[in-house]
Amino acid sequence: MILRMSSLFLRTLREDPADAELPSHRLLVRAGYIRRAAPGIYTWLPLGLRVLRNVERVVREEMDAIGGQELLFPALLPKEPYEATGRWEDYGDNIFRLQDRRDAHYLLGPTHEEMFTLTVKDMYSSYKDLPLTLYQIQTKYRDEARPRAGLLRGREFVMKDSYSFDVDDAGLAGSYQRHRDAYVRIFDRLGFDYVIVQAMAGAMGGSRSEEFLAVSPFGEDTFVRSTEGTYAANVEAVDVPQAEPLDASHVGPARVVDTPDTPTIETLVAHLNEHLPREDGREWTAADTLKNVLVVLAHPDGTREPLAVGVPGDREVDLKRLEAQVAPAEIASFDEADFARHPALAKGYIGPGVLGEKKASGIRYLLDPTIAEGSAWVTGADKHGFHVVDLVLGRDFTPDGTIQAAEIRDGDPSPDGNGTLVTARGIEMGHIFQLGRKYAEALGLQVLDENGKLRTVTMGSYGVGISRAVAAIAEDNHDDLGLCWPPEVSPADVHVVATGKDQQVFDVAEDIARRLEQAGVTVLYDDRPKVSPGVKFKDAELLGMPTILTVGKRLADGIVEVRDRASGERTDVPVDQAVERLVELCRS
Ligand code: ATP
Ligand code: MG
Repeated sequence: MILRMSSLFLRTLREDPADAELPSHRLLVRAGYIRRAAPGIYTWLPLGLRVLRNVERVVREEMDAIGGQELLFPALLPKEPYEATGRWEDYGDNIFRLQDRRDAHYLLGPTHEEMFTLTVKDMYSSYKDLPLTLYQIQTKYRDEARPRAGLLRGREFVMKDSYSFDVDDAGLAGSYQRHRDAYVRIFDRLGFDYVIVQAMAGAMGGSRSEEFLAVSPFGEDTFVRSTEGTYAANVEAVDVPQAEPLDASHVGPARVVDTPDTPTIETLVAHLNEHLPREDGREWTAADTLKNVLVVLAHPDGTREPLAVGVPGDREVDLKRLEAQVAPAEIASFDEADFARHPALAKGYIGPGVLGEKKASGIRYLLDPTIAEGSAWVTGADKHGFHVVDLVLGRDFTPDGTIQAAEIRDGDPSPDGNGTLVTARGIEMGHIFQLGRKYAEALGLQVLDENGKLRTVTMGSYGVGISRAVAAIAEDNHDDLGLCWPPEVSPADVHVVATGKDQQVFDVAEDIARRLEQAGVTVLYDDRPKVSPGVKFKDAELLGMPTILTVGKRLADGIVEVRDRASGERTDVPVDQAVERLVELCRS
């Protein structure tokens, strides 16, 4: 295959696109790989499509290797199956819905659990048909609230999704492990730095779940690793253990104190240190205070439910962690109108005195698990300008439960008891999880077992963001000059650049390109006449093929130059050895 730049449908841009925040987005647009059609919706130009197809090929090969069978569902789907599982509603505004001329409702598939489950149900009825793994590489649609960073978070995007079907839990565990191994091979081949972390199952339900995150400062996911290397999790999935109870027998009775003008933790701590020094001699800090944060859960059916979350005053509530706990509900702010509806709340001085389903506000009240039974707190006294001191959990107040919603910080103890946590950011590239019987139950997927009894099938669901991977690979493989594709996904193996006006240069370059093609090497050939060497080199750097071969002035001495795009290393090669050298390079 030879792609000739003189006729290739390509325009490289000198200017960065105005809406591009990330290097990958900027470079993919500038290098003419993709073009924006609408927010979060992109056109794949010839070079970009080649990268996309290469990623697909890697994924396909590894899925086939674990016995996955490829099929293809429509993207345009009927509403009924999604109603049966509750997702028509749960997805809320996040899916594209449409109606046909007969007013029947459809959606553009955000993911296909329902369709796979129903099709297996239609075709299979015996345990002998299982285990089964099916997959597709498909365009998905999600009306993301914040489409971002080009391909990283699209509203139309390409995903590989696969599903395993087993009769029992041991079978599911095996299918899950095979997928996990395949994903390790896929992400190793795609050439980026990644971590495997424990994940939340989210709106899907189910049990064991892990994500493959590409490590990147631009990632939207925060993950933690323990310093001992024994624990890694998406921050949403971190399960902070319940603190051990403390002995509160020495703590005096709770008392209300006058704390005028102290609606914030900072003003409260300053006031306490000035007017109410501690008996043990140390200063009050924000960690001595109990902060009660009010939010509203916006449920998919449109109802709004207020919720109070109590955290130590030196921590924030992490809204992503909170949202993951309450999904499919989303978090909205508790606004003035909400305050007006709850007169028991004294804004700035809210405390456990009124919080709780059975208390004056009637608002459900959940505490951070680091708050121990028997611990004493300073918190709002539910009266403007007043706080309560030495309020003891279990003795003086009882919440409705606990919730994993406080921010996680570097240095927090690792939940597995080994070392402390370090946080970093990543891009979710793949997600594997054990769905269990949720979908099979909702849609009635059962098979007869060896005793002739009906058994509900247990399923796994596994996704790879194919189009997102193109951006993540670009993000991890570029420099100031442009892209540097890993060989496995590069649109071409070698970029042959012919420079100058000398016809012999073009003849030799053409000959090399042809011989490379015959040897199975894909070539991007810059055969453009009357384009300056400077422009050609800039384009070669921007476009990012792994190897650049320059045929130019030095051909007169029988020399061509081989350059490694990523390292920048240049080697002079006698022209008659060029093909052999390049073929060798591409095979290694
Ligand atoms: P995210 O948390 O990033 O929104 P998700 O958890 O909703 O992703 P899954 O339902 O697990 O995504 O989908 C499987 C894979 O599809 C993800 O791991 C990701 O690589 C990819 N993906 C999901 N949403 C998008 C999107 N909007 N654009 C591009 N790829 C996506
Ligand atoms: Mg996911």
